[in-house]
Amino acid sequence: MPTVSQVATPPAKPVMLFDGNCGFCAFWIRRWQQATGERVEYIPFQDTRTAEWFPELPREQLALAVHLIESNGAVCRGAEAVCRSLATNPARQWPLRWYQKCPRFAAMAESAYRFVAGHRPLFAALTHALWPQSKRRNADNEPALRANPHHKTAPMHHTATEQFVSGGKPHSLARFLDPLHALPGVQAETLGPFDIGGQTYSLPKFTFRGPNASDPIRIGIFAAIHGDEPAGATAAASFLRDLAAHPALAENFLVHVYPLCNPTGFEDNTRVSRRDRDLNREFWKSSPEQEVQLLEYELRTQHFSGIIQLHADDTSDGVYGFVRGHTLTEHLLRPALRAAEQILPRNINAIIDGFAARDGIIYESYDGVLAAPVEMEPIPFEIILETPHHAPLDRQVEALVAALHTILTEYRLLISFAQNI
Ligand SMILES: [Zn+2]
Repeated sequence: MPTVSQVATPPAKPVMLFDGNCGFCAFWIRRWQQATGERVEYIPFQDTRTAEWFPELPREQLALAVHLIESNGAVCRGAEAVCRSLATNPARQWPLRWYQKCPRFAAMAESAYRFVAGHRPLFAALTHALWPQSKRRNADNEPALRANPHHKTAPMHHTATEQFVSGGKPHSLARFLDPLHALPGVQAETLGPFDIGGQTYSLPKFTFRGPNASDPIRIGIFAAIHGDEPAGATAAASFLRDLAAHPALAENFLVHVYPLCNPTGFEDNTRVSRRDRDLNREFWKSSPEQEVQLLEYELRTQHFSGIIQLHADDTSDGVYGFVRGHTLTEHLLRPALRAAEQILPRNINAIIDGFAARDGIIYESYDGVLAAPVEMEPIPFEIILETPHHAPLDRQVEALVAALHTILTEYRLLISFAQNI
């Protein structure tokens, strides 16, 4: 693909073209926009104006990097485009001066830019973890970034929410599970089968291996062990879709997702299973319940480094969580709650669900909850996330998904710090 370095119709003032569907780009563009003010116009390359004004710039080229078109028609891209646009502000000319004068700075800036651009989903997650405000929807104060009708911001976390919840009626397992079987890179299996009330059931399990995961960090995500908490199941599905769409989010990880741990309860929209058991009180007690036995087998054999359970609490007005297992667990839950808090409030009560709590974190838990076996070595981190059940389902899902991405990102960082000290 020949790189276009000049356009036929120069704009009146410099124009920066960026990927309007990329939350990471949008976040940085907003920061650059603060530096450049009105001196540069920022347009998503998906905007119809881009093709009208600059027909010679191929979309595929624009998708790879930001492009700056200057008022003399010159086109540059990547780190150079960033330096040049910043330099329109007299106080921000040093990056361009360095870029032009120092080949090492130029090379470093370009390689840093390429690295970041090549890892956009990972960096988007990092950006959101480090600057949680970047996750806030609708840049209302940024009219230049407003979507035109052709520019849709990817509704990554919302698509499946309404798919299987049909007001009060029993839920359909097939309607929930079928779309997940079509996800690229996601391996589906079933645990079981087992019979309840003359009908045959199984526990669905989905596995995703991220890049660079030959010796992976194994994570288990368990949802809907209470069948009337669809937010967790939907969030688990939504999270899988994110991984399938952006594998780098799961870099170094082998993620096992068990989205429906209580399939009969899910179908009936009840907390308990059809055998009237609260399955989340039955673990490691020689329970005869088939769902519990199948999950205990997974917990014993998969050697998880981390176990995450997704729940909703109808007595809570905010998001909170339980920590168990490894002592570093609270260092994962804390940023996860900060991420979730951008979407739903945190429950900061001193007592939550009968337990002493601090900043939305509970350090004890019920007897018999889904957890690693006591003899497990090394000790995994164990987190139970709870959303307020009465909040809109979309919000609960979004909060849980944000928390899950944050846990992966933070754990990867902790591991890499640990390996370097
Ligand atoms: Zn629950």
